[in-house]
Amino acid sequence: MSDHVLVINAGSSSLKYSLVDAASGEAAAIGLIERIGESEGHQLHRGPNGETSTALSISSHEDALKAAINAFETQGPSLDDLDIVAVGHRVVHGGSWFADPVLVDDDLIAKVTELVPLAPLHNPANLEGMRVARRLFPDLPQVAVFDTAFHQTLEPEAYTYAVPHEWLKEHGIRRYGFHGTSHAFVSGEAARLLGRDPADVNLIVLHLGNGCSATAVRGGRSVDTSMGMTPLEGLVMGTRSGDLDPAIHGHLSRELGLPLDKIDRLLNYESGLKGLSGENDFRELSKRRAAGDDRAQLAFDVYRHRIKKYVGAYYAVLGTVDAIVFTAGVGQNAAELRAASLEGLERLGIQIDDERNTASSDKARVVSTDDSAVTVLVVPTNEEWQIAREALSVIRP
Ligand code: ADP
Repeated sequence: MSDHVLVINAGSSSLKYSLVDAASGEAAAIGLIERIGESEGHQLHRGPNGETSTALSISSHEDALKAAINAFETQGPSLDDLDIVAVGHRVVHGGSWFADPVLVDDDLIAKVTELVPLAPLHNPANLEGMRVARRLFPDLPQVAVFDTAFHQTLEPEAYTYAVPHEWLKEHGIRRYGFHGTSHAFVSGEAARLLGRDPADVNLIVLHLGNGCSATAVRGGRSVDTSMGMTPLEGLVMGTRSGDLDPAIHGHLSRELGLPLDKIDRLLNYESGLKGLSGENDFRELSKRRAAGDDRAQLAFDVYRHRIKKYVGAYYAVLGTVDAIVFTAGVGQNAAELRAASLEGLERLGIQIDDERNTASSDKARVVSTDDSAVTVLVVPTNEEWQIAREALSVIRP
């Protein structure tokens, strides 16, 4: 029987789960529980017998995981019938401590707790997910897989901010990078698609979902990435500003009297595509653009211009680039955005093929011309599979 890993992604008011065959990546079941702690919650479970959507009140992450176990019992697949070898947890911030996945024990929990100030929105929920899963699955090994781990290969010149030197040691102020699980998975798949050893290829990976990040990958190792100490820096995102003059904080605070917490919230939840156009969902934005909406057009232009700037920057960092890889909801689906962000880069050897780019497919594929010196790829990401594989690599080194 093949090894399955129960992958858990615990958010502040949600819990996503997926039972993944670590060898094939196939999900035997997936589920999502939302609005934990509110009176009207919701559970979705998709297994071998189809999809069910249930309204229910869930007061805690423990209740949420119990509801997931219940869904496996009543709707399948039965957890007893599958060979489940581990629970894999997505953990957002591993600071400078974790370059690899790690077995969850009391020491790991203590370290992730110490990192809460660096990720106050995410790490507490991830911790709760690990605590609850240890209680409900005491006999299974639990593995933490960090969003930051893939970027621990950055050299000091790439991760150091030009600020007073003691800030790094005393407060951990540096670039960590995020979406590492996705960048790692997509880099491996891209090398496979190119028929090359990952150690021999240079890639620019563009993860464009609700959150967006770009990574320069040399020989399978991240050498630069656009997200920083937090997931706010870099590309324009659904609701996040990305790069910003840091003096804007002081200006808003002095001139408008805005408290820092409010500024933080505005930059994380009310900026990006949403701030510019009122719409954070890229599909809706595209519809509004097509209907001639000026603000939607501006949002699109700012978004694609920022991507192009990072492509140029990472081209320079890498020196030679074998492929540019688009992934996640926008990257995999928005052909027009892919073409617009790479427009005019023919002198860099980047040439999109219109027919390939606009052909509809959910498979990994080439969308550049045969003559393009840099191959342009679309590679669907699969973070759950990557977490399952990494969890397995810890329990069976
Ligand atoms: P997350 O970062 O939450 O995992 P996704 O990777 O699912 O997000 O990306 C969500 C984004 O992808 C949304 O802005 C959504 O509009 C966009 N998206 C999804 N499908 C399409 C599509 N067919 N065309 C354009 N954009 C799409």
